[in-house]
Amino acid sequence: MDRQNTDSLPISLVPDLEVVAQSDEHRRIYTRHFEVPSVPEATRVQRELVKDEVEAFKGANVPDVSTGTFPVAELNLRSHLTALSGQVMAIRVNTYESSGTGGGTRYLTQWFALGGPRVLGTRDLFDSDDDWAEFKEFVLQAATSDTLVLTGSLRELDDSLLDSVNFDAQGNALVEFDDNSLGAGTIGPVTVTVAAEQVSALLSDFGALARTASMSPSPRIQPGQSQDAVAPEAGRSRSQEPGPPSSRRGIDCRTEKCVALTFDDGPGPKTGALLDSLRRGDAPSTFFVTGPNAMLRPDMLQRMASEGHEIGNHTWNHRSLTSLSSAQIRSEIDRTNDMISRAVNQPATLMRPPFGAHNSISDRLASTPVILWDVDTLDWKHRNTEKVVDAAIKQTRPGSIVLMHDIHPSTVAAVPRILSGLKDKGYTFVTVTELMGPAGLEAGESYAHAPRPAKLDNWETGKAGR
Ligand SMILES: [Zn+2]
Repeated sequence: MDRQNTDSLPISLVPDLEVVAQSDEHRRIYTRHFEVPSVPEATRVQRELVKDEVEAFKGANVPDVSTGTFPVAELNLRSHLTALSGQVMAIRVNTYESSGTGGGTRYLTQWFALGGPRVLGTRDLFDSDDDWAEFKEFVLQAATSDTLVLTGSLRELDDSLLDSVNFDAQGNALVEFDDNSLGAGTIGPVTVTVAAEQVSALLSDFGALARTASMSPSPRIQPGQSQDAVAPEAGRSRSQEPGPPSSRRGIDCRTEKCVALTFDDGPGPKTGALLDSLRRGDAPSTFFVTGPNAMLRPDMLQRMASEGHEIGNHTWNHRSLTSLSSAQIRSEIDRTNDMISRAVNQPATLMRPPFGAHNSISDRLASTPVILWDVDTLDWKHRNTEKVVDAAIKQTRPGSIVLMHDIHPSTVAAVPRILSGLKDKGYTFVTVTELMGPAGLEAGESYAHAPRPAKLDNWETGKAGR
């Protein structure tokens, strides 16, 4: 289903590549772009693209002032590395957008000449105007002979349609067309292949380098950097004494004031610092990780497991599950579970649907309990440490599940004060499974908090939360 991910290169090939994920939980916006300090042009165009897409999406989906609601629309933008060498880098971006009634994916591939950083487009891959025209002719032939493309009326391809061209391992050119861009007769996404022997004679010098960088990618080594630094740090050994496994602590949340802190969308660059804080504060928590981030930082998942935290599934692509088919939902969950299992030898015990968007079908397909929240810190929105601390401490009640995101430094910075503030109010920190107690959790059911203890009022000390 999601060919983009399987075809992309491991981003560890670019040592200073940073994955920047952002989510707007209310408007259902999720973006995951790349920033590369050693290639400032790449950082600039990636940021610009995200900014433009988010602004256009927000402009087209204005809130209903009378009800304060947004239309059920979704924006999901993800970057992938598709070519890399000492001279060339390519980033492909696929952007899914729906307005509620239907949606489609757009594709864009940004090429970078690394010698003197320049942003290049598809046209730069080809030599003379004649070569370019001939390539377009090959694309048109291939497109119209494809049984999926019923484009009898298609005579000419506008250059703007060809903004995502890549090469496969055999050197064939792959042209990705945006959904529905070839006219009403097309069905779903269309990728057209132009054979290696046809394309090779038409390429510019840059195009030839680009093709090599796609067929046999080589890691990027920055000036003054040794080859060692390119190795991913996942294999690095750590001497970590394991934290107390939560089930052995004998906490009964029916008689104690418990709260479950949860962290979504990671692990990210700051998750290690967060784990340090949680260990110091004796605060077992629950992490809802995405598949790509689990793949990127398996060592963080291992640390979570060994330090008594619980790991939940937050899907692969962070799409709203309510707009996917059953097969797609299953794939979102299974791929992520595979990646979690690879890191910690067992799949996720819980699932949290992206944006909290779920229904009876997605709940059933989760095949684990589905965990929502009753305290929303809105940390993704304000990115303000004070406000995260304030919301978490004031809104928490016994049995609460608190939603935060460990991809935001402002949230990670808030955690030490949240821990001490809630501890002062008499709270014990537990994982979600511990919070629900012996009555337990059932697969296919959704939960936003633990059953409220009857003695709740007696327990409230100080100012009551909202
Ligand atoms: Zn999320």
